[in-house]
Amino acid sequence: MIDYIIVGAGLAGCVLAERIANKLDKKVLIIEKRNHIGGNCFDYKDENNILIHKYGPHLFHTNNKEVVDYLSQFTSWDIYNHEVLCFIDGKKVSIPFNFNTLYEVFPQSKAKALEEKLLSNFEYNSKIPILELKKSEDKDLAFLADYIYDKIFVNYTAKQWGMKPEDMDSAVTARVPVFIGRDNRYFNDKYQMLPANGYTKMIEKMLNHKNIKIMTNTDFKELCSLKEKDFYLFDTKFEGKVIYTGQIDELFDYKFGELPYRSVDMKFETVEKKFYQEKATVNYPNDYDFTRITEFKHIHPTKSDKTTILKEYPQEYRIGVNTPYYPIFTSTNQENYNKYLEYSKEFENLLLVGRLAEYKYYDMDDIVERALEFFKKENFD
Ligand code: FAD
Repeated sequence: MIDYIIVGAGLAGCVLAERIANKLDKKVLIIEKRNHIGGNCFDYKDENNILIHKYGPHLFHTNNKEVVDYLSQFTSWDIYNHEVLCFIDGKKVSIPFNFNTLYEVFPQSKAKALEEKLLSNFEYNSKIPILELKKSEDKDLAFLADYIYDKIFVNYTAKQWGMKPEDMDSAVTARVPVFIGRDNRYFNDKYQMLPANGYTKMIEKMLNHKNIKIMTNTDFKELCSLKEKDFYLFDTKFEGKVIYTGQIDELFDYKFGELPYRSVDMKFETVEKKFYQEKATVNYPNDYDFTRITEFKHIHPTKSDKTTILKEYPQEYRIGVNTPYYPIFTSTNQENYNKYLEYSKEFENLLLVGRLAEYKYYDMDDIVERALEFFKKENFD
């Protein structure tokens, strides 16, 4: 009766379920170990009637119109441009570091000189990865790079990852740019917006199809087992396909060792004030143990005398204790992942997709694009 088992009700699993149900008219069972759908995009209204993102602030931004068109079938959107401040030397300044930040941290004459220097070296409205600026031979630019690196970047990265930036993949470090211009927005993508009623409502609509059944509070291994190279649903060999979006190392009982992740302890607080801070997110690279504070009322405006904030405390991921959030990019980890990937190819009806199964960081638009492409490319019939 079931053509596809999808493990995980995050965006990857839900987009594929929707495509399979609507386009192939096949039956899908989604198995999700959490008590809700939506994966890390899950949001809900808390006791202050404020829509909060349970697994950290999720800001949708993309240049991909196909992804926007696809998701727009399930939601309308509110325009939202995310802005972030950074607490350095007792002051909150704009980040990504841009020309406004120059004037917030340096005396006027020095800021102006640096602005001119940046403009003569780089294109207006471009983004320069901090590690690239640091390599500059110009002494003023090298000074600026060191300043940004020391005050904004290095301690934040150390807190976030528990390691030195030099040891990390440039795909991660490049995420911290210097912006050659005056745009204070955190992202520069063409589409920056939020599902009008939240991600969970959007995903609920995506899954609203007679061919899709969902079991939450259920771990894959409670229903299914692996024998030789086959999957069994209870005691019956499952002839359909298994689309797995969970951790690949867990699926194979850590056969080639654990794949390390960074986790975050998310601590929500109610504050008895209309607003707690000036912008949605304030980063704290150098002070306190949390990396950032997010205030959800800035993201989803709500009338309330109270406000909800989230402090994020990065920590090591430990199996069964906390949640795996970010894969840790090192060549050793990638090699171990590749061993799992090779091994997985021996399972004919197994398909791997998603940030945990592929051990890869995907933004929401990336994972929707990946799932849509995956659907087009794989031979699903
Ligand atoms: P997930 O959302 O992780 O879904 C996987 C699901 O599988 C989970 O629900 C899990 O419980 C379930 N599962 C795993 N194993 C099993 C099992 N054995 N049995 C049953 N179920 C199982 N993206 C943006 O675009 N903008 C942002 O601002 C942004 N902020 C982020 C902040 C944080 C802290 C994190 C961690 C991510 C952020 N992202 C953001 C990325 C976004 O969360 C991902 O793109 C998206 O969640 C990927 O979807 P997925 O389906 O691959 O994974």
